[in-house]
Amino acid sequence: MADIVIVGAGHGGAQCAIALRQAGFEGTVTIVGRECEPPYERPPLSKEYFAREKTFDRLYIRPPQFWEEKGVCLMLGIEVTAIDPASKQLTLSDGSSFGYGKLVWATGGDPRKLPVPGGSLSGVHGVRTREDCDTLMGEIDGGVKNICVIGGGYIGLEAAAVLTKMGCKVTLLEALPRVLARVAGPELSAFYEKEHRDHGVDLRTGATVEALEGEGRVTGVRLGDGSVIVSVTDTGIGIAPEDQEAIFEEFRQVGTTYAQKREGTGLGLTLTKRFVEMHGGRIWVESELTKGSTFTFTLPIKPWPTN
Ligand SMILES: Cc1cc2nc3c(=O)[nH]c(=O)nc-3n(C[C@H](O)[C@H](O)[C@H](O)COP(=O)(O)OP(=O)(O)OC[C@H]3O[C@@H](n4cnc5c(N)ncnc54)[C@H](O)[C@@H]3O)c2cc1C
Repeated sequence: MADIVIVGAGHGGAQCAIALRQAGFEGTVTIVGRECEPPYERPPLSKEYFAREKTFDRLYIRPPQFWEEKGVCLMLGIEVTAIDPASKQLTLSDGSSFGYGKLVWATGGDPRKLPVPGGSLSGVHGVRTREDCDTLMGEIDGGVKNICVIGGGYIGLEAAAVLTKMGCKVTLLEALPRVLARVAGPELSAFYEKEHRDHGVDLRTGATVEALEGEGRVTGVRLGDGSVIVSVTDTGIGIAPEDQEAIFEEFRQVGTTYAQKREGTGLGLTLTKRFVEMHGGRIWVESELTKGSTFTFTLPIKPWPTN
């Protein structure tokens, strides 16, 4: 049991615990996180960490000992699988229960799975966690040289740039007519397309992926025009928020209505921060949404406090 339990040991969850202590909160605080690492920054994963210019210890949001010094308990490598708001109990993936006084839900998002046949073959990697990056880097160390990056958003472009710099032969596929189409104007898209091509990336726009080919392990990417690219595949097609409908259903049942419904494809959705605090029947939601993403909330949502 902790006075405040924060679910999600990402930047949002970590910053929430830091802010509580900075504000003088003296109660018990526990962060439950699915990953095994103390909170770390994700942006370097597709930049300096991927390029091996920074070691992982330089990505920590705070040094590991900070949490103990501040009396913040980290429960890592554990997932919250259910919430019982009536008894204020969480069910954890190891089967145990954990009580809370107040609950902060800071679970961020997960990479979208490629919705095509072969999307879960081995050799298909996301770029979201340290584990994702370490696995991909291990493949490169093992001799993989041909890599297909699917998705011409920021993460896909960053990964393509670093992989090229590392000597890989990179093909980047973007389904839309230009890269960064949802976040930048045509001039900026054209600039990045040229930069990448000038540095040797085989960058193809309007390229739809029909299927990933291979027996057990990916060997190629089949495109809508029938052509096949031989590769290991790295996906950067955006994230889907951790909806975890089953968990939120519990809230609905006790009359605290919360629903979040993502409409459209969600492609290009950048949910850079999600912080939900539930207290006394109020819900605050903070998020940054890119154009083209639609969120529908069914609830009286109070405006974010201005002071
Ligand atoms: C490769 C990469 C590069 C990026 N570059 C930039 C950049 O240059 N600039 C920028 O502004 N942003 C960038 N971002 C985005 C930025 O990292 C995110 O906005 C930020 O990580 C969001 O933090 P968060 O805490 O809300 O969620 P997350 O970082 O997603 O953290 C949520 C955590 O909750 C855990 N979790 C989920 N469900 C459960 C559960 N049921 N129980 C327990 N734990 C759970 C997850 O495992 C995860 O560790 C980048 C992201 C990536 C992946």
